[in-house]
Amino acid sequence: MVNTSKKTVLTGNSSQGTLYIVSTPIGNMEDITLRALRILKEVDLVAAEDTRRTGLLLRRFEIETPLTSYFEGNELKKREFILAKLKEGKNVALVSDAGTPGISDPGFRLIELAIESQIPVVPIPGPSAAITALSVSGLPTDAFFFKGFLPHKSRKRRDLLKQLEEVKETLIFYESPHRISETLRDIFEILGDREIVLTRELTKVYEEIIRGKADEILNQIGDRRLKGEITLVISGKTRKFTRSAARSPAFEGGVDKRGSG
Ligand code: SAM
Repeated sequence: MVNTSKKTVLTGNSSQGTLYIVSTPIGNMEDITLRALRILKEVDLVAAEDTRRTGLLLRRFEIETPLTSYFEGNELKKREFILAKLKEGKNVALVSDAGTPGISDPGFRLIELAIESQIPVVPIPGPSAAITALSVSGLPTDAFFFKGFLPHKSRKRRDLLKQLEEVKETLIFYESPHRISETLRDIFEILGDREIVLTRELTKVYEEIIRGKADEILNQIGDRRLKGEITLVISGKTRKFTRSAARSPAFEGGVDKRGSG
């Protein structure tokens, strides 16, 4: 049954607050949900990975809830502070830099602690880069293997790719634009002729989706220095490559993405 009441129904000890795991847009601000906006407005505190970026989001929707930082580096100290607030009965929204908190970011450490302390944890779902990339990949989605960030160092990256060589499910990785060419070369050498979907700046003005084998994508990129945020989707071991390389620009099909943030 859909919960249409104004307040979210909570379980557990009512003298404690609730930790809301609030997904936010991965680029385009229009992707915020109505429920996320309401929760961000109603909670006592927003714990944000990047207070500047979340501050912009809150201002855009005229939300004045106080912000506190929670990021890799202060998370051990800060999670005790946030837990104390929750135990006092305050409701807290956890927000990551972008996307779904806890997915390849320090959010999970706070979530783990809240669960151990029997604080109710409520998901407010929305975008995540991994699922957004997978959804347009055209690769099998019934089973997939998400590995988060690939190691920065080539040797470790290659070792990891060797370990994943036999995986039959679609692979999903986060990658930095600075390392993308090196990574594609490693993928080509170790995983071979796989179908790859390189997604960049999803939902933003310069959204780009490049499909092809690693060498075809490297050719397409050429001397271009890619910028922005990248998610790679790669076919699993059994999938045969069938398509030729194709690139989808941001304005393909008459869809204008200039509303993005
Ligand atoms: N928790 C986030 C989520 O659910 O999407 C992911 C956090 S992780 C620290 C950030 C990485 O996600 C980026 O380095 C990039 O690889 C990927 N990413 C984030 N936004 C993206 C976008 N708009 N397009 C493509 N990849 C993106």
